[in-house]
Amino acid sequence: MTGELVCPRCGRTEPVGTELRCPSCRAPLRYRRPLPPLQPGDLRGGGFWRYAPFLPDVPPLALGEGGTPLVPSRRLGPGLGLELLLKYEGANPTGSFKDRGAAVLVACLRELGARVLADDSSGNAGAALAAYSARAGLRARLYVPSSASGPKLRQIEACGAELVRVPGPRPEATRAVLAAGQGDPGLTYASHNLSPFFVEGLKTVAYELWEDLGWAPDHVVVPVGGGGLYLGLVAGFRDLQKLGWIERVPRIHAVQPAACAPIVRAYERGLEEPVPVEPGETVAEGARIPNPERGWEVLRALTEVGGAAVAVGEEELLTARGRLAREEGVYIEPTAALPLAALPKLVRQGIVRPEETVVAVLTGTGLKTG
Ligand SMILES: [Zn+2]
Repeated sequence: MTGELVCPRCGRTEPVGTELRCPSCRAPLRYRRPLPPLQPGDLRGGGFWRYAPFLPDVPPLALGEGGTPLVPSRRLGPGLGLELLLKYEGANPTGSFKDRGAAVLVACLRELGARVLADDSSGNAGAALAAYSARAGLRARLYVPSSASGPKLRQIEACGAELVRVPGPRPEATRAVLAAGQGDPGLTYASHNLSPFFVEGLKTVAYELWEDLGWAPDHVVVPVGGGGLYLGLVAGFRDLQKLGWIERVPRIHAVQPAACAPIVRAYERGLEEPVPVEPGETVAEGARIPNPERGWEVLRALTEVGGAAVAVGEEELLTARGRLAREEGVYIEPTAALPLAALPKLVRQGIVRPEETVVAVLTGTGLKTG
């Protein structure tokens, strides 16, 4: 596997390995390798792995991820005077965009010789990691709060992952996985929030939007929890810009639930670091991350691409989700409705203007909602 790991904060570089953090400043690392001189015609085959030249060079691990539909909105978009396109990530094999990250992460860790992958997630990321580990013939161990339940947990178990139930609030599960890794060299912490390889897989959303449209949209609107999808989109569009395939990176807007909005709070005050919050209850459970470690990177990227960060309330969220199903026939989970709930606000504030092309990334299916 070529390339290197690079610290986005202090610039230190490390050889490719299973390290998650910079040894100097502890920031989560990113993966980097020189972009080969490419022409669009060099992309071969269908689906996700046609973008292999942009990804870490490892043997593909595929379950049919990516290649998700871009559905034109017939009512919600025109109602706001916009050309709105819905990138439906619920069509991925395990039902969410996390499959893109998990496919690349597990493929890389398999190549690096890992045997047992551990993560702390009882949600879509855990389900994706369990499925791709099963596919790769690796063992997965998921540390989850003992209070967790529901369809995603059953999905994780069905894929043969070992569940470790950790008493106490959510951060205890993270503490438990870290402690387990320190005592067991055979265990690899495959953190979906920290791994540089996970973000690499998420770049493919940008490549697909470019190929489906033939250009880059004016705006992309995404939910932000850990920030991986946001950073993946920015990195993907930057790749296309470097190759001269698009002129500019779209304005990418970040949406969080008002009950847990550390990035929006920082954005509103012009701060460079997220404002840690005490998270309230929210139906957008996928975005309930009170102090995202890559939050400062998201804030920096927001400024660079001219994006806005917007918080939405629970009512707006549930209304948007209900309308999408009733008026367009697309059934998504509450977290995935964040971009739609934010659109009226972005229009009112003049950030998104009439006749512009807007893509809302709908991150997961509604079928797993308990
Ligand atoms: Zn560093």
